[in-house]
Amino acid sequence: MHAPEIHSATTTHRSYPQTTGSFFPPAHIQPKLAVNEPGDVHEQEADAMADRVMRMPAPVMGLPASYKPAIQRKCEECEKEEKLQRKTDLSASDFATSSAITPHAKTNTHDAFIPAHQLAQSIQMSAAPGNMIQRAVHNGTDWAGRYEFNDTACTLNYSQDWYFQFPDSMDATRRTAYMSAAESQVEGVWSHKHRLIPTAGSCPCSPDGVDVAVDLRTHNEAQRGRHGYSANVTTAPTTGLTTLPLRDMTLSDTHDTPVNMGDGITQQRIAHEFGHALNMRDEYTGWASFWGVPGHNDRTSIMHSGDDVRPRHYQPFADIISNTVEGCTYRPAGLTSSSLVNPVARFGITTGITLDANPQFVVDLRLDRRLGNTDLLGLFTPRLGFETLMNTGSGNFMFGPTIGFDLNRFQHPIYLDVHTGLLYDPADPTRPESLNIPLSLTAGFRGSGFSGGVNYTGLVDVLGNSGYSHILGVNFMFDLPGGGPESRTPPPVP
Ligand SMILES: [Zn+2]
Repeated sequence: MHAPEIHSATTTHRSYPQTTGSFFPPAHIQPKLAVNEPGDVHEQEADAMADRVMRMPAPVMGLPASYKPAIQRKCEECEKEEKLQRKTDLSASDFATSSAITPHAKTNTHDAFIPAHQLAQSIQMSAAPGNMIQRAVHNGTDWAGRYEFNDTACTLNYSQDWYFQFPDSMDATRRTAYMSAAESQVEGVWSHKHRLIPTAGSCPCSPDGVDVAVDLRTHNEAQRGRHGYSANVTTAPTTGLTTLPLRDMTLSDTHDTPVNMGDGITQQRIAHEFGHALNMRDEYTGWASFWGVPGHNDRTSIMHSGDDVRPRHYQPFADIISNTVEGCTYRPAGLTSSSLVNPVARFGITTGITLDANPQFVVDLRLDRRLGNTDLLGLFTPRLGFETLMNTGSGNFMFGPTIGFDLNRFQHPIYLDVHTGLLYDPADPTRPESLNIPLSLTAGFRGSGFSGGVNYTGLVDVLGNSGYSHILGVNFMFDLPGGGPESRTPPPVP
């Protein structure tokens, strides 16, 4: 046990002692300081600090006014307005317009009420010819394909471009026939299998859901562009192989006809490889059995040894729509889980310890929100938030904005969250202020309405007053109402 250090009366708060000049002071200075005379300089400073803290807005509440995770219940009219607003597909305007309740203006163009400022926006949008039709169509790209979601016709068209390379021994006629077989296999096996149902009645395409059509576009040329697959056809025996993220696949020249898998089961192997192109994994492997992944004993499944597309295989399509229609969650009919989409807003808590000789116990709180509807590269969902990090030993805390990226469409339900930000640590009598850049990585699993995992956070002070800190902890994130599937009231029965 160390003897408590006695503060010299001549110490002023500007001469921060080396041992205390950081957010995570060494443990041995933690024991109580010498008893101070009432009203001495340290006490006055402490009082002043406490005063400042009391006057600060609570960190989690201190969000910009435009940052509203839509916790309050919405009126039905507002729901309609939001739906119309969504159709304009202005992801950048989401922050300003979501959950806005403003005086209404009636318009004949749409059979609904639109808030005045949104009306202006709609008129601007309508100025472009053909815009009225395009409003119901959402186009985008994901991992290796393109989608077009029509929220009026309730159709999702998903297409991929495959660029075929053939051996010289295959002539032009044979190549054309092979590509044609590839298209029929993929489109026949994957289209119109399960409808995508919204989990709230107020969402587009409720209650019947969305029909999915898959379109394979084949080309006999080298791959062009960022999206698509290079399909190499070989005469050498191969069971078919799709590599991620290189986006090429190897097919046998016999895969244009179904492969006999034994026990009376056949498989259209090119359609199986398309499942990989949607980022799905094999269900027949020893690892699949070991982990007990869904489908490991489902022999006739397309990702196992047969041709059957199950509801679980439609999750990537459901995710596309859930990410397109903010606040709405879609799931394949027959699959109850709605756990795999990126939520709109969520709250997180991380508890951890600093990795040094005198571990400090740290609690981190974070509130963040999906930044629009678009995934970067079809994989990462950008998020903007606010975070506060507390050292529970000293009571010090730092706070500030964060920007993050979620990756949970790579391999459900595996979840990866990366975020950084700028965290301000105010000065106090024992320490100078610091401005910290965190690098936070969480890897874990996403469940229904929450995610959990192991978190590493590194902190570096750009002002140089504190050193580099490493924190290891456990993180849980909870989806907030407004981003969840059950937060919307169903529409009235007509
Ligand atoms: Zn496979």
